Order: sequence, then structure tokens, then C-alpha cells
Amino acid sequence: MPSEQKLSFVYQSQPSRVVFGEGSLAKTPEEIDRLGASRVLVIATPGRKKLADELAARLGSKSVGVFDRAVMHVPAETAQEGRAEAARLNADCYVAIGGGSATGLAKAIALISGHPILCIPTTYAGSEMTSTWGLTEGGIKKNARDPLVLPKTVLYDPALTMSMSATLSATSGMNAVAHCVEALYAQEANPIVSLMAEEGIRAMARSLPVVVKEPASMEARSLALYGAWLGGASLGAAGMALHHKLCHILGGAFNLPHAETHTVLLPHATAYNAPAAPQAMERIARALQSKSAAQGLYALEAGMDAPLSLESIGMKREGLDHAADLAVKTPSYNPRPLERDAIRALLEDAFEGRPPRTWPSI
Ligand code: NAD
Repeated sequence: MPSEQKLSFVYQSQPSRVVFGEGSLAKTPEEIDRLGASRVLVIATPGRKKLADELAARLGSKSVGVFDRAVMHVPAETAQEGRAEAARLNADCYVAIGGGSATGLAKAIALISGHPILCIPTTYAGSEMTSTWGLTEGGIKKNARDPLVLPKTVLYDPALTMSMSATLSATSGMNAVAHCVEALYAQEANPIVSLMAEEGIRAMARSLPVVVKEPASMEARSLALYGAWLGGASLGAAGMALHHKLCHILGGAFNLPHAETHTVLLPHATAYNAPAAPQAMERIARALQSKSAAQGLYALEAGMDAPLSLESIGMKREGLDHAADLAVKTPSYNPRPLERDAIRALLEDAFEGRPPRTWPSI
């Protein structure tokens, strides 16, 4: 029984097929057939080129090419290049293999063509479970939702995550935790998604410290990828709030790395929202086995030697005022109203890498 007193919510399920387990990659050809596609364009970042080439070879005549120029935050020029290549090759399906950057580019292409996406995630970013697409132009990252870009099929193969370094595992894992945290207090939060989100935080809190210490543990890698799935599904079904907004601002305006930015900001955004979302905080703290949601997140990160300050990931102090201005410039949902000076203080804490502060009740 949910702890909420009066239940009132909307739940929209996201129609996608998930195939989970070690060795799922081998099922790609049959899953392509299931989609009725025959001209696959494989999409990847330069770092995953080898994996993409191997997959294209495995697909044989079903593959029409590999586009390996995906980069973070989907610059508008990259989207244009990808769309042109997909049209030139007459592709009828996009297979994104890699992290959120590969998925993001596939979404930008599918948004125009309408062809289906099959995702094979190799990080914990979670974009594969959402209908949110993003595009960066002139230093501003625009995000919107469209059911057209929701991947039809997702193959989760934990073996593909083994190559993630300890730092990438920790930060990408905290990106998934951030999806769960915000789904608990987003505007479209609901009891079903809250179950998934709490379970996602629990799975990540149990698995990530093990992944960092024993990167070859398939059990820990599987549990972390399961947590990442729950994170993506929670984000896809319930949406986001202040934390994601700040991450998009810092990514778009200052080109800060996505997963690291999520990692640094999450304890601070959680602390900011704590007075306005007590039930969400109760769930987060319970999943972390901590007395406090925000402090528990900070302790989890510190225990993995994850980055804790914006300064350490490339932010310049001069940018903090601009970031705070951007945060309040456009209205968006958050359980606690966005106050410019308070956001500036939050950003200052994150810049310095301090433990999250306790904000007064509202
Ligand atoms: P990424 O895809 O850019 O990957 C980061 C780096 O790690 C890349 O160099 C990549 O080649 C490498 N990499 C990927 N998998 C690896 C592996 N298994 N082993 C070793 N290296 C690996 O980063 P990301 O954090 O996965 O995704 C970030 C992007 O995804 C951002 O643009 C973000 O906005 C977007 N995103 C979108 C949504 C959404 O719902 N639309 C959700 C989450 C993230």
C-alpha cells in the first residue's frame, strides 16, 4: 500500500520490448526480423566503433552501414549528418549500440524518418527506455518527448558493460540513480513507477560499489544493468524535475560531461527538494539504507571515489551565475519552487564539492 494519503495519478505505460541477460547481443538478428526491418544502420560513438563493426558483420546483408560519429548531447550538425547518411543508405531501422549518445543520435534520425530503433545499451544512461529526444544548438540543449523515438526493442546484455571503467561505471550508475530519484517526485510520479524507482536505487546502491571494486563480477554488472533499466523506465514514465534541468543547462551551455554532471549535482538537487518531497526522500533513504536521502547519495558517491565537485569536471566559477539565471528563465515543474538565489547556492555547494546542506522546511 503506497504511503500517500489520497491517490490521484495518471500512469502511461511505455510500449517497448525488453530482452535482458548475458548473451542477449546474439539475439539481434532475430529481433530485427521481429521488427520487420531489413536495412539496418548501426549507430555508435567513435569509442564503440569496433563493437558496431562487429555487430554489422553479424547482421550480414541486413546491415547497410555503420555511422560511428555520435557525440554527447546530439549537436544539430551531427543529427543532420546522421539523417543524411540514413537517407542515402535507405535504412529502415536504426540499431544504437553504446551509451546515451548513440541512442540520442538514433532518436534524432528516427524523429524525422519514423523508422524503428533497436537499442543495445553499453552504459547505464537509460535513454533507451524513454521517448525523450534532445538536440543541442547554439549552446542550448532542447529536449522534448515524442512516442516516435521510443526504441521498439532493447537488448540488455551485461557482458557489454564489462569494459566500462570504474569511474564511468560509478558516474553512469549515478545517472541511473538520478532518474529514479526524480521519478519519485516528478509531476507524473505514480505508485507503480515509485516501486520501480525505489527498486532501481536499491539495485544500484548494492551493485555499484561492487562493480567499482570487482569490475569482472557478472552478478554485480547484471544487477547494475537491471537498475539502469529501472532508472530509464522510471524516467520514461514519470519524467524529471530540477536536477535534470540543471544537468541539461550545464551540458548544453558549458559542455560538461553528462554522467559526471549528474553525479556531482544529484545530492544537492535532492537536498534542495527534500523539504517539499518527504515521501520520496523516505523511499530514497530506505533504498540507500541511510538516514538521509541526500547524505546517503553523497556517501555512496564518495565511497566509489566518484567526482564530487563541478570544478573537478571542468566547470568555471564564472559560469555559476549564468547557470542559475538559465534555471529560472523558463518555467518547469519542481516540487519546490525554483528560487534564483537558492539555486545559485546549490550550484556553489556543488562547485566546491561540499556535502549537501540541509534546507529549511517550506
Ligand atoms: P556516452 O554515450 O557519450 O558514452 C560515454 C563514453 O563512454 C563514450 O566515449 C563511449 O564510447 C564510451 N562507452 C560507452 N559504453 C562503454 C563501455 N561499455 N565501455 C567503455 N566505454 C564505453 O555517454 P552516456 O552517459 O551513456 O550518455 C550521455 C548522453 O545520453 C547525453 O547526451 C544525455 O543527454 C543522453 N541521455 C538521454 C536520455 C534521454 O532520455 N533522452 C537519458 C539519459 C541520457
